[in-house]
Amino acid sequence: MMSKITCPNCSSQNTCQILYGLVGLDDKLNEDLGAGRVHLGGCVMSGEDPDRHCNECEIDFDTKAPNIYLDIDGALLANDLTPANHAKEFLKKVLEEYPYTTYWLTTHCQGDANVPIQHIGHLFDAETVELMKKIKPTTWDMAKTRAIDFSKPFLWFDDDMFYEEKQTLLEHGVLDNLIMVDLSKDPDQLGRFITSFPLPVNT
Ligand SMILES: [Mg+2]
Ligand SMILES: [Zn+2]
Repeated sequence: MMSKITCPNCSSQNTCQILYGLVGLDDKLNEDLGAGRVHLGGCVMSGEDPDRHCNECEIDFDTKAPNIYLDIDGALLANDLTPANHAKEFLKKVLEEYPYTTYWLTTHCQGDANVPIQHIGHLFDAETVELMKKIKPTTWDMAKTRAIDFSKPFLWFDDDMFYEEKQTLLEHGVLDNLIMVDLSKDPDQLGRFITSFPLPVNT
């Protein structure tokens, strides 16, 4: 049996593994299905399928999904008044792939996921603002790396990094998980991530 795994959507521990492929429905499986000990995922697999089901809120989630950390200024915004090119499509891509493991990593958050939306929501359309509501908050001070969970694979999109942050990434051997955004060099950079999304280095 797997240890208790918490649902990233509703925090319930009433979750179970997802079984894929053609399964023979015997008494044992029927009993496990009825008791919520296993959930059937069907026969079509993409290779990045969720491996866990929540019996409370009925979502499927992937326990292997990386955490995605998003900066705002210089990453999602080209300047104070303008979203970066393709920012909307980029957010859509990120939140479709990683709806439960995407976090704000910005000075405009500090533990409250509403603050970034208040800060930049008016620059985006209503659909994108709805998507942004899935992004979770972080709390940190001095160094953004203090908010990063180094026990999990992650990607951090930012236009800037301080000395301490770089040292911390180097110590963990995950400097490549910082995806540097440089919109002055490539205003369409976010669009390139949509066609070729980076993969995290595993520790
Ligand atoms: Mg920035
Ligand atoms: Zn749930």
